[in-house]
Amino acid sequence: MYRQLPSNTFFKPLIQITTMSNLRLLVVGGAGYIGSHMVKQLALAGCNVTTLDSLVNGHRDAVLHGDFVHADLADKDSLTQLFKHQQFDAVLHFASFIQVGESVQKPALYYENNVTNTLNLLNAMNNAGVRRFIFSSTAATFGEPQYTPIDEQHPQSPINPYGRSKLMIEQILNDYDNAYGLKSVCLRYFNAAGADPDGQLGERHNPETHLIPLVLQAASGRKPFISVFGRDYDTPDGTCIRDYIHISDLCEAHWLSLQSLLKGANSQQYNLGNGHGFSVQEVIDSARRVTGRHIEVVDAPRREGDPARLVADSKSARLNLGWSPRFSDLDVMVKHAWNWEQNQHGANMP
Ligand code: UDP
Repeated sequence: MYRQLPSNTFFKPLIQITTMSNLRLLVVGGAGYIGSHMVKQLALAGCNVTTLDSLVNGHRDAVLHGDFVHADLADKDSLTQLFKHQQFDAVLHFASFIQVGESVQKPALYYENNVTNTLNLLNAMNNAGVRRFIFSSTAATFGEPQYTPIDEQHPQSPINPYGRSKLMIEQILNDYDNAYGLKSVCLRYFNAAGADPDGQLGERHNPETHLIPLVLQAASGRKPFISVFGRDYDTPDGTCIRDYIHISDLCEAHWLSLQSLLKGANSQQYNLGNGHGFSVQEVIDSARRVTGRHIEVVDAPRREGDPARLVADSKSARLNLGWSPRFSDLDVMVKHAWNWEQNQHGANMP
C-alpha cells in the first residue's frame, strides 16, 4: 500500500519511489531550518512524520505536517516513552547547536547538546530496536582544508568544538554500527542556503549569522549594511569562497540516504555541496541582481577560523545515491531566500 504523491511536489525522486511513502519517521529538530523543510517534503511524499523539538531554536509554526512532540533530548524518560509508544522505521537528526564562535566560548554547552544529547537519542533508539539513522554532519569536521574540493577521504581535523562535536558523533556511529548494527548515513553539509521554493519556509536563526540572510536583510533595509569579513584572502576577488547548497537539494540527499538504508546499504558518509564555490562578493552581487536593491557594504576584518576556500567534492553522493543538485544556480538560491524574506517581513520593505 502506498499513497499517491500530490502533483505539486517539486521533489522528483519522491514521486518516483512511492513504495517508501508510508514510512514512520522521527525527525528530531524538525522545527529548525533544515528539519522543517525535511518534514514538509517527507509529508508530501506520504510518510508518517513525527517531529521532536525542544523549541530552544526551532519554531513550532515551521512544522507544517505530522505530529509534534515538545521535548528535549536531555530528557531520557520522554525519549523512552516516545519509542515505547510509537514505532519508527528510521530517525533523522537535525537538532544541534551550530555557531562556531559560540562553541569556542561555551564548549560545555556544545558537547552537552550535540554529543551527550545525541547519545541519549541513539541509546533510546537502540533500546527500541530502531536501527536506521540519518545524521546532519558538517564540513567543519574537516578543519583547515589540505586540498579542495574536499572529498570523503580528506583527513578530518576539526579546529573548533562545534566541528569536534559532530566528528565525535560520526565516530560513535561507527562504533554503534559495529556493536549494535545501527546503520547510519552522515551527511556533511557545506553551506546550506535558499528556502522552500513555495515560500512557506526559510531560515529564521536568532541571532542570524549566515551570509545570505544577512545580505538580504541589508537589501530589505532591516540592516543598514553587510560586513565583508576580509578582502585579503588568496582568492580571485580576495573574499572567502564557500559552496552553497540549496535546502531542497539537501533534503533530497536525506531522502535518498534513507532509501539506501532501507534497501540494506552499509553505513556511509557523504559530503554535500554543489562543487562550485562562490565568493562573498559574488553572493552580494547576486543579491543585488535578484533584489534590484542597493546593498551597502562595509569591509571588516577577517572572522577568526574562516578558511579561504571550502568546496565539496560530492561525487560519492552522486554515484552511490544518484543525487544531483537541481538548484545549483546561486541566483536561484538567493531568489528563494529573498521570497522568504519578503514573505516574513514584507511590511518593512521600502
Ligand atoms: N560572512 C561575511 N559577512 C557576514 C557573514 C558571513 O563576510 O556578515 C562570510 C564569512 O566570513 C564566510 C562566508 O561569508 O566566509 C559564509 O559565512 P556563513 O556564516 O554564512 O557560513 P560558514 O561558512 O561560516 O558556515
